[in-house]
Amino acid sequence: MRDLTESAVELIRRAATDLPADVEAALRRARDREDTGSAAEGALDTVLENVAIARQNATPICQDTGVPIFKVRYRPALNPRQLRQQILAAVVEATERSYLRPNAVDPITGRNSGNNLGRGFPTFHFEVGHQGDDLDLKVDLLLKGGGSENVGAQYKLPYSRAADGGASPASFDAGRDLDGVRKVVLDAVYRAQGKGCAPGVLGIAIGGDRGSGYVHAKEQLFRSLNDVNPEPSLADLEDELLRDANALGVGPMGFGGKTTLFGVKIGAYHRLPACYFVSIAYNCWALRRATMTVHGQEVSFQ
Ligand code: SF4
Repeated sequence: MRDLTESAVELIRRAATDLPADVEAALRRARDREDTGSAAEGALDTVLENVAIARQNATPICQDTGVPIFKVRYRPALNPRQLRQQILAAVVEATERSYLRPNAVDPITGRNSGNNLGRGFPTFHFEVGHQGDDLDLKVDLLLKGGGSENVGAQYKLPYSRAADGGASPASFDAGRDLDGVRKVVLDAVYRAQGKGCAPGVLGIAIGGDRGSGYVHAKEQLFRSLNDVNPEPSLADLEDELLRDANALGVGPMGFGGKTTLFGVKIGAYHRLPACYFVSIAYNCWALRRATMTVHGQEVSFQ
């Protein structure tokens, strides 16, 4: 099997330093919607200037380069153990080249490993493709920042806001249906205000168990902001949540404004009869993702 280490370093460089076109375009539209001279407009101007400088200088878009999450789809002929080793070597090299900040901290000793390797760090999801697949290999990478990770949330429906106490201005009961999902997601957005570097994008999973729900929620963050959910009821809910969350007025960095979120992506897993989880992966404006595909000798990036 060929050595893809240097290609994987390039994948990491792109994710860390070059914000995807759909994300930057959405931030520009958000900036143009804000009132002239407002703090919200100023915050988004600063974000966009920072994005341009990072791209030009190949420096990280944000000092927190997050946890690298690799989604690897490979042809059965490839060896996943070797792929993993090459990607790990690329992570070490990307850290040495300062595309990544050393972010892996041992929770027992408190020591930072210094090279972004540790137990369960980075995160991998391997999936074997089909023999008939056009591609030999596809690697999607998401760099998920810690500040936004801290404001992710998981709700168990039914849920009573009054019984839970807390900060939302309205008490509500959320039942086991899509309207209940809508209510708890808005509660999570309200609670995240001032944290997590808004405006953000939500990856949401309805159903699953506590573990699979969060994984599926993060998978939604790999989707293009411009795609349309193939499930009509979820497509409608994505639009509705985007509109309702922005009506909260939290705004960029919590300064107040018209854009609190610039994307909502929802997936659904079958659930146990006894459980109805809503898992919310919040991503800050720095939605850093990149894709590498390999077809024969040809390696390409998106
Ligand atoms: S939440 Fe996002 S933008 Fe804010 S510090 Fe973390 S990675 Fe950077």
